[in-house]
Amino acid sequence: MQSDIAFLGYLFYGKQEIPCSFTRKKRKNNMLCRSEKDEEIMELALAEAKRAADCGEVPVGAVLMLDEKIVVRTGNNLIGAGDPVGHAEIRALRKGAGQLGNYRLPGTTLYVTLEPCPMCAAAMVHARIERLVFGATDPKGGGVVSQYRIGRDGRLNHGYAVTEGVLADKCSLILKEFFQKRR
Ligand SMILES: [Zn+2]
Repeated sequence: MQSDIAFLGYLFYGKQEIPCSFTRKKRKNNMLCRSEKDEEIMELALAEAKRAADCGEVPVGAVLMLDEKIVVRTGNNLIGAGDPVGHAEIRALRKGAGQLGNYRLPGTTLYVTLEPCPMCAAAMVHARIERLVFGATDPKGGGVVSQYRIGRDGRLNHGYAVTEGVLADKCSLILKEFFQKRR
């Protein structure tokens, strides 16, 4: 069983709060549990996902936060940029590092509408983010809770806390609609 506070998380939210062994102690006082603020920020990530869809990109959006302040908002930009790794998360980490003047991003929280793929999950380890919040799970390609547990299984030298399922229905609907239209 996890620590007491994590146990409370399980009681209130089911298995949606996943504190990681690296950050569990630090996180006792704040942000362990899903909050209204998370939903508010996820709406902003959804707006980025919509913007991406308007450009013909798979609608995934991300917002990087530091101390309750928005650092950057990004969406997928693979086709537009001709970039095979132009995922919203990678773009948020790159732009965020530029904004903050640091190649590492301690204390940041990354919000993403879809469970990150293994590449992005690993990039978050390299970037030293503190917390990941995502909306819809990706059972086929997810790198955090679905196919792999990157950043959470203690096998790498850094990890991050994870909150999943924030506005999950909205986050998966936008993807569903996008792929339906393309058929
Ligand atoms: Zn990715």
